[in-house]
Amino acid sequence: PARSSAELIGAEEPVLAHNYHPLPVVVARAQGAWVEDVEGRRYLDMLAGYSALNFGHRHPALIEAAHRQLDRLTLTSRAFHNDRLAEFAERLAALTGLDMVLPMNTGAEAVESGIKVARKWAYDVKGVPADRATIVVAADNFHGRTTTIVSFSTDEVARAGFGPFTPGFRVVPYNDLAALEAAVDETTAAVLIEPVQGEAGVIVPDDGYLAGVRELTRRAGCLFIADEIQSGLGRTGRTLAVEHESVVPDVVLLGKALGGGIVPVSAVVARREVLEVLRPGEHGSTFGGNPLAAAVGTAVVELLETGEFQRRAAELGGILREGLESLVGKGVVGFRSRGLWAGVDVDPALGTGREVSERLMREGILVKDTHGSTIRLAPPLTVTAEELQSALHTVEKVLARQ
Ligand code: PLP
Repeated sequence: PARSSAELIGAEEPVLAHNYHPLPVVVARAQGAWVEDVEGRRYLDMLAGYSALNFGHRHPALIEAAHRQLDRLTLTSRAFHNDRLAEFAERLAALTGLDMVLPMNTGAEAVESGIKVARKWAYDVKGVPADRATIVVAADNFHGRTTTIVSFSTDEVARAGFGPFTPGFRVVPYNDLAALEAAVDETTAAVLIEPVQGEAGVIVPDDGYLAGVRELTRRAGCLFIADEIQSGLGRTGRTLAVEHESVVPDVVLLGKALGGGIVPVSAVVARREVLEVLRPGEHGSTFGGNPLAAAVGTAVVELLETGEFQRRAAELGGILREGLESLVGKGVVGFRSRGLWAGVDVDPALGTGREVSERLMREGILVKDTHGSTIRLAPPLTVTAEELQSALHTVEKVLARQ
């Protein structure tokens, strides 16, 4: 007989690394904005796989693209060409307003690749002396989990026990142009930031910050790398979050939703002058740019080319903002939002973010805390206005009951 949710959770304990603390829900099926557990209970997915599911679970166009490709060709490695990669790169470059694409798989790989490319550019193009390049990053960043990336994290939990760390990074406060200016010098290869800091609690910088970073990096002759892995691909109401300030970075890092919630697909997208520094043998990935990933990625780009999802995120984002404003003082002490993405600070007296998430789970809403008493709301962009209103109503009910 099939195992129950409780049995499956228990079965994981001895055999699965404990690097996560999931909510006690075991998902077995999903469609659109809804997931169903082993016992058939339904939940509205207000996390959307940390924005990997921007188009909802099993979007028909994406599933069809994947099926079609599965029946034809799945992997070649980059030892050979495949017939899907050119179109993916052409359309992704056009979507972002940049020139060239380096396809990878996970977000962390895109970040690592962006760092390598920026360093190479600094030596080959800018003329920084060998092994002296620096990259300026922001405090409270989240760019992934590899050894180099946690080297410049300011989260002790992410770092402790994993040294020695990779040198060459300078950390400045987020949303502080003066601090950034002071940290940039002739060794600087790049400034790497999230246009909205996701894991930090959906921290939206002041108006003018992103344009300021663009201006400062241009003047300093270093690259602006925008990590849009969570903020990009429709989430904030624009294709990229930097578009809110009409900014075009030199390098954009994409992941999560690029794989349509089906396969891991990430990419470094950049100006020709930057990605052109890579020569054969200097970088690569067995799975990066595989035909299945390219087919799904192309279908994702196709969805975004319609503008429909960006529009939905902007419109529904208005409902989300209004709903959250009405909850301030009623269990919510503050919130930040951009598009269909919000970080909500719950009154700590009502419980931790984790406790609130568990209460919402029991009411059929799946969210995830970021840290402390902050929860993040980021439903699929396919959620309806009614579903969103209903979720906000449940949040209100759960916070009022305490
Ligand atoms: N960059 C940002 C901004 C992210 O939010 C994340 C994941 O949360 C990553 C990078 C890392 O992506 P992945 O988990 O696919 O390695």
